[in-house]
Amino acid sequence: MKSDRSVSIEEFERLRRQLDRERAIRQQAEEIAEAATRRLYDTDRMKTLFVTTVSHELRTPLTPVVGFAEGLCAKWDRLSDDQRREMVSLIYQNAENLRSLIDSLLDFRRLEESEFALDLQTVDLAANVLTHVQALETLAREHEFETALQEGVLVRADHTALGRIVTNLMGNAVKYTPKGGQIRVSTAAAEGFGLLIVEDSGQGIAPEERERIFERFYRSEREALRRQRGLGIGLALVRALADAMDGSAAVDESSLGGARFTVRFPSLGV
Ligand code: ADP
Repeated sequence: MKSDRSVSIEEFERLRRQLDRERAIRQQAEEIAEAATRRLYDTDRMKTLFVTTVSHELRTPLTPVVGFAEGLCAKWDRLSDDQRREMVSLIYQNAENLRSLIDSLLDFRRLEESEFALDLQTVDLAANVLTHVQALETLAREHEFETALQEGVLVRADHTALGRIVTNLMGNAVKYTPKGGQIRVSTAAAEGFGLLIVEDSGQGIAPEERERIFERFYRSEREALRRQRGLGIGLALVRALADAMDGSAAVDESSLGGARFTVRFPSLGV
């Protein structure tokens, strides 16, 4: 007698195909869940790493600030004018580093949370860049520093954001160019854009890293560059701010031998 449970070949094939489909769907779901878990794990690990790096980076400039200030208080009368001047100058430089780190962190958080409100105005590019360059020149005392600012280039930009771009690019030029090297800051007009160019005679950036350095947290793989401290968010900020102002930021090679960063801002004429 034929069993009720027996199935025809067609039925068997249909069931097998259905089983295959279900298996494929389950496998896909497992892969998605696995990828999501991995992403969560990576994000978590990245956050922990970020907090550790930030704490470390903040403590590094703070140590000499406290140390030299303590030394000045304790030994003021026994120090020569030159020694005191040198110590105050070191306190200033390290405090500046600290301020720039904190500014970057705050800007970064604002950008991540879309809180960075831009106030786009007509800005005289050379005049604006000059004010920031003057404030930063003391940091580049050990470099050969030059400016070539074309006057009268008007761009549409946010004063503060433009300042953060100049500060970050100049700070990097100083940081990644050995003492005695050259740094040049220029402004110009070309093809409907106002250009800000910051270049140096340092190690430069390998072609395969020229896009990656604009990613958040990316730091060069090269040992010589890695030795410098940093959080890897400065250039991500530069690009995000330039993009938000309908401009752009890119890097290539400078005739000085190192990196050349070019930021474009929509121009309102010369
Ligand atoms: P940070 O300097 O904190 O590492 P940035 O986002 O400012 O972060 O820069 C990312 C990376 O790009 C740096 O770690 C460095 O490897 C590279 N870089 C930035 N500016 C220069 C420069 N002027 N010359 C060579 N390399 C640079």
